[in-house]
Parts: sequence; structure tokens; C-alpha cells
Amino acid sequence: MSPVAVILDGYVDEPACLGVPPYVSPYIRTVAGVMISHGYTVQYLTIDQLRLDPLRTAELNRADLLVMIAGVTVPGKYLGGTPATLTEIQQIGLMVRGPKKLIGGPIGFGYAAGGGQKAIRQVISGYDALLNGEPAIALENYLGGNDPSGALDYTRTDPWSVAGSTIITQHPDYPYVMCELETARGCAHGATGGCSFCTEPFYGQPKYRSIAAVAAEVAALHAHGARHYRVGRQPDILAYGAGAGEYPAPRPDLLDKLFSSIRTAAPDLKTLHIDNTNPATLARHEDAGREALRAIIRHHTSGDVAAFGMETADPAVIAANNLKAQPDEVFRAIEIVNEVGGMRRDNVPELLPGLNFVCGLAGETGQTYDLNEQFLVRVRDAGLSVRRVNIRQVMPFEGTPVYTNNTLGKHEQRFKAFKEFVRNTIDLPMLQRVFPIGTVLRDVRVEVTGDLSFGRQLGSYPILVGLPLRLPRNTITDAVVVDWGMRSITALPVPVEINSLPASAIRWLPGVGKKKVAAVMAKRPFAGLEAYRKVAGNSAVDGLMKF
Ligand code: SF4
Repeated sequence: MSPVAVILDGYVDEPACLGVPPYVSPYIRTVAGVMISHGYTVQYLTIDQLRLDPLRTAELNRADLLVMIAGVTVPGKYLGGTPATLTEIQQIGLMVRGPKKLIGGPIGFGYAAGGGQKAIRQVISGYDALLNGEPAIALENYLGGNDPSGALDYTRTDPWSVAGSTIITQHPDYPYVMCELETARGCAHGATGGCSFCTEPFYGQPKYRSIAAVAAEVAALHAHGARHYRVGRQPDILAYGAGAGEYPAPRPDLLDKLFSSIRTAAPDLKTLHIDNTNPATLARHEDAGREALRAIIRHHTSGDVAAFGMETADPAVIAANNLKAQPDEVFRAIEIVNEVGGMRRDNVPELLPGLNFVCGLAGETGQTYDLNEQFLVRVRDAGLSVRRVNIRQVMPFEGTPVYTNNTLGKHEQRFKAFKEFVRNTIDLPMLQRVFPIGTVLRDVRVEVTGDLSFGRQLGSYPILVGLPLRLPRNTITDAVVVDWGMRSITALPVPVEINSLPASAIRWLPGVGKKKVAAVMAKRPFAGLEAYRKVAGNSAVDGLMKF
């Protein structure tokens, strides 16, 4: 019988890598590949599965090898899972007795319980070794009797990513898994030290993965049933394959080839999205940037988001933290993405920008927040769309300048007021702009069930959809927008079953509300649209009703 190895996924979230469900990080797949190449039967378990059923610790005890992957360097709020805490990681290390126990991933950079707190490098007790550097390479070295460490080398990891692609079939969300695809590691801006808070420069200058290697991995994932992909494991998708320099010009030809190769390798894919996009690349290379965006849009799926790390609109903070883009550059980049990606397909914009703000950086003052607010109002009043505005407090990591020079704790009230301002003044009009009433979102997957169920499309920063109905988890439904929250929308399944929906759902229909819901319920069943309209009037949702 072959030896058994277990991968315990504690989830990762880094500036350029997401591995919180439904996302599966590349680390999981390459580590699985190493295990398979050493003859192990590989099992996959998530920290959430273990929390739900602690008796599964017995499975870990029976294994010959346990590798835990964990670490969050850019903390967020997650619907699909909760990353492993340091206490859990250590408890697992102490409780599991049978196998050799290794731990890897960004946890090696340090740990903090949340944003606004310093991430301290930890001695993680209970494990035989910390996989230093690239987990798959460190594991390979460990299994070969060498030091459990090693830097990323695509010539070594590419075959493992193909061999390990089978692991996705064990994911609890399978087949609704989003495969985070890696195309590059390291940041060109790191040449001048990088942004003060960012851990990506730890990986050095950019290394690009070959198109053939990405396509081979996608083909293997597709053969195992993967239908959702995000090209998200890189700091700037527009810089793929670009030349030297801190802000290299995009290569639209390479991007076209990369994305068309993914399409060819995964002919049945349903989602192909992107993530990080450096606004400075777009602002400094407008023509090449436009062509690069067009190349992506030719092959991706709509509803895509180019996430801009703006961080602040305060030039003094930009200077103090060596940030990459000035506010006017970010504004220009927002204009360009709106111009090239603002058209709709499958009811939603092809590609919109997202904006990330980081607070607590060196040099921040009360005025920083005024400037941030003014910038967002300028974007809103210019009629531009932004898919999301993400605001977080910095989590300083040892080895980054912000670790010793930051303003955490100095502007707490202003930080809270800024968040509140954005929720009320920016998020709502943006949602109304991007998802007007009557917009049908395709293939929303219910992730949380209840009287109010919550679901999302699979994608890069999908909007949270509240469905005022009890729907089983993993229900896939088209859903029509009927109202907006601050950071979510309310929607009803399509077709709208007007004669059978409960009153708690009917009241959300445009033109019905609390006032008319009793009248609508009393007149059911309706024979057709005319009869319904006599009670509730016309609305953008009428055409989607089933009688
Ligand atoms: S540009 Fe700045 S934030 Fe982006 S990856 Fe490089 S160092 Fe990190």
C-alpha cells in the first residue's frame, strides 16, 4: 500500500495570491504534485472541514505525512471560509501525532490576528519543519533528505502543478472551485524597494512563467473538471512578459497569446478573470495598456475586475511609502479601464477597475482621509464606474519599511469615518450604476443558506447577492437585481415565480414593497402579466416572471 500524505489547507491570502474557498491556491496543487511524484496517495482537507468535524483529526493521525499550508498577509472578510488562526495551527501541530508534520506558505513571513496589527515571525511549535520559501520546492528538498527550503523555480514547479491538478476534485466546493493561476512572481517596483507595506518584493524581481506551462496546467485542471480560473497570482497582469524597468510597457501580443492559450486548453471554461493591475503601468503606457486590456477582454469572461492598488490619494503618503502611482495616474487608469472595459456582455460590464486603499501607512494625517474622500467623489461625479472599493488597515510585516514606520492607532476615528463615508457615499451609487434594477446575474451559486440566503457568481470580487429565500447550498441560479445594500445586492431567482414565491420575497419586487405585498398575495394566482400589472404596476423585472 502506498504511503498517505494529507494536505491541510489553512488558506492563504497574499497581495498576489488568494486561496480562500472557493479559491484554490497554486501552493496546494504544486505540493500535491510533489507528494504524488514521491508515490504518496494524497488527501486534501480544509481547516473548515476539520473545524466542523474535529474527529477527522484521526485521518491526520493515520497519515504518513502532513503538510499544512497557511498564512494571510492581506487580511480580508471571507464568505467562503475562515483562515486558520495561529492557535489552531499550533493545536494541530501538538494534537496530531502520527505523521511527519510540515507547515508552509506565507505563514513563514509572520502572523497577526487581523489588519492594523503587526505580523510577528513565529516559532510554530509542534511541527517537524517549516517549509521555507516555495513550499513545493522546500518539500521536495525535505523528502530528498535536504534542508526544507528553496526558492521558486518554475522549471521545477511546472510539472508538479500538472501532476497535482487532480487535488481539486477533493475540494469541498468542487466543482465550484476557482483555480488561482500563477503567471509571475516578484515585483519590478521592488527595484527601488517596493511599496513600504508589501511582501511581494520578498520574491525579488519578476520571474515569468511560460505560456506553455500555464496552458499545460490549465489543460490538466480542465481535464479534472475545473471550469473557473483567475489569472491572479502575479502583482501586475499587464506586465506579463514585459521587459526591464520599474514600470515596463505591456506586451499585448504576449497577453493575447497567454489568454487565448488558456481558452484553448480549457474549452469548456465558464470563468476567466484577472486580478492585480498596476495603474501606473496603464497611465505611463496608455496605448500599449489599452491594447493589453483589449487582448484580455477578447478572451476573458465578463464581470471581470482589474484591482488597482491605489492605497492612498495623499501625495505625501505616496512619497513616504514609495508607492507606485500618483492620484492623477490612478484616475487616468480608471478612465482607461472604463473606456475599454465598460461595455456590457451577459448583462454586466466586461471589465471594471477595483480600488484598494491601505490605511495606517507612514506620513498619514487627518488630511489624508480628506484627500481619499475627495478622490472618490471625483471618480463618482465623473460618471466613472468602480466595481469595488476595498479599505483595510495595514498589517506590517517584519522586513518591510512599514514595520517600523507607520501611523497605526493614530487616526482610528478618521479611519472609521472614511469607511463609513465610502459605504454611504460611494459604494451605493456605484452599485446602482453597475447593477441597475432588472440586471440578471448568471449562475449565482448559493454559499450560505437561511431565510436570507447568500450567494455569489464565481469570479474576481463577485458582488454578494442576498436572496430572500431559503435555498439549498450550491443551488445555481440566475438572479435578477431588485434592490441594493451598501456592499451587496438583493436579487430574486429567475424566472421570478410570482405565483409561488413567499411574501418575504414578493415584497422586494420593484413597485411592490411593504405597501402592496398584501394586495399581490391576495390576488394570486395571476393568470398573466396584465393581471399582475393591474395590482403592482410595471417594473424592470416584469419580463422575467413566470405565471
Ligand atoms: S507595486 Fe507595490 S503593492 Fe504592487 S506588488 Fe509591487 S511592491 Fe507590492
